[in-house]
Amino acid sequence: MNLVLLGPPGAGKGTQANLICEKYKLSHLSTGDLLRFEIANESEIGLKAKQIIDEGKLVSNDIIINVIKSFFNNNKNSSGYLLDGFPRNTEQAKLLDKLMLELKNKLSCVILLDVDEKHLKDRILSRSKEEGRSDDNEETLIKRLETYFNETMPLIKYYNEAKLLKKVSGVGEIMHINQSINSIIDHL
Ligand code: ATP
Ligand code: MG
Repeated sequence: MNLVLLGPPGAGKGTQANLICEKYKLSHLSTGDLLRFEIANESEIGLKAKQIIDEGKLVSNDIIINVIKSFFNNNKNSSGYLLDGFPRNTEQAKLLDKLMLELKNKLSCVILLDVDEKHLKDRILSRSKEEGRSDDNEETLIKRLETYFNETMPLIKYYNEAKLLKKVSGVGEIMHINQSINSIIDHL
């Protein structure tokens, strides 16, 4: 089983991804976490990515391809994948289609975590106090939301037309949202 978690910044993708991966034994790809790891290590990729992330823009597809390829190489014998934060634009979605073909595999479902802007702002500003991510501030958040609307939202149509999209409300109790997701997965 291969799942994609789609949703705006602060939708709770990481939180739900951890719960889903634990229950269904999937390998978790979080491009955001992998990029932050590169930044912490001051690698070549990290140095390139930092400024772009802090501007609320998308890191170039060239960098993402590198990150994705090493993830799939390191998780070859996995029984399934959960992709969190990838794909984030149409070019990446097409790249993923190609990758799935190469792996003789396919996407089972794309789960859209739906959260309104007011909740996103509240969450990200309170997370900034806990985690201190340099892109979790009001100014960068406005840009991240803009990037999401312009570049990532077209994927909703893309996956809806592919009959893969399932929408879940991402507002409410974490475990309640998790149950809604589990029930979608159990019906696949
Ligand atoms: P959350 O995880 O809380 O929902 P988020 O989706 O904004 O928040 P991450 O997924 O951690 O956060 O991504 C942080 C930043 O990393 C993005 O704003 C972007 O700059 C960069 N990034 C992550 N994934 C990609 C990707 N697939 N393509 C391009 N840039 C990416
Ligand atoms: Mg995340």
